[in-house]
Amino acid sequence: MPRTLLAFHAHPDDESSKGGGTVARYSEAGVRTVLVTATGGEAGDVLNPAADSEEARRDIGAVRRRELFEAAAVLGFADVVMLGYRDSGMPDTPPNSHADAFVNADIEEVLKRLVAIVRSEQPQVMFGYDDHEWYPHPDHLRVHELSVPVFEAAADPERYPDAGEPWEIAKLYAPTFSRSRLEILHAAMGERGLDSPYGEWLERLPPLDEDEVIDARVDVGAYIGRARTALAAHRTQIAPDGPWFQIPTDLIREVYPYEDFELLATRVEHAPGVGDLFDGVAE
Ligand SMILES: [Zn+2]
Repeated sequence: MPRTLLAFHAHPDDESSKGGGTVARYSEAGVRTVLVTATGGEAGDVLNPAADSEEARRDIGAVRRRELFEAAAVLGFADVVMLGYRDSGMPDTPPNSHADAFVNADIEEVLKRLVAIVRSEQPQVMFGYDDHEWYPHPDHLRVHELSVPVFEAAADPERYPDAGEPWEIAKLYAPTFSRSRLEILHAAMGERGLDSPYGEWLERLPPLDEDEVIDARVDVGAYIGRARTALAAHRTQIAPDGPWFQIPTDLIREVYPYEDFELLATRVEHAPGVGDLFDGVAE
């Protein structure tokens, strides 16, 4: 039985910034990795002046699609499925009301499409989103809304019988940016006398409390460079001198070489801590 990891994301760039190092690690280890991206990222502005172009202004969707495929290749994704919905934009902006916006798609129809993909790809591990309190983008909330329903419906023979044979995903994880990770990196930057990009972010986040959920940590120390190269492929969204790249990779390797995950649902036993997301999955 081949091992498969399916990552469900909202926009081009999310696959690189959320769990990208983990995908690189597993794809290198021979796990088949599949990316499902809900939207084309059409609503975001061109944030990097160096990537502004006539084409980017005329057809940002085409440019971001190319960037996505380039990033996916760097991370080692074996397959990329674009669901083709339109980026819904930030709350209370005109893209919210576009007929093709992801938030305006019939949720049952989206769920059925996702169930069909899961039943055909047969992943043991899937990535979805948590409640995203720290970044309430409507498309991210939509991915959150769909994550557990996909996990449940794909396994249920009564649901969507014409969408393939039922498939039980073993574990559903959400890649998370934990506050403790940010604090550790922020402090380590200070100790080296470097400017931390996380100061403002930490002020906006709720204070660290015991409720922080990190169910799994994956050691991606050897894959930080790959994840950054993938993120940098999103030239129209990510400037090469932007905050994402200010923390030296050797510092990350030294103080926090992990990507953090929250377990949203599981059908197998789960041992928390630094480990393998496929732990407990039948060979
Ligand atoms: Zn996004």
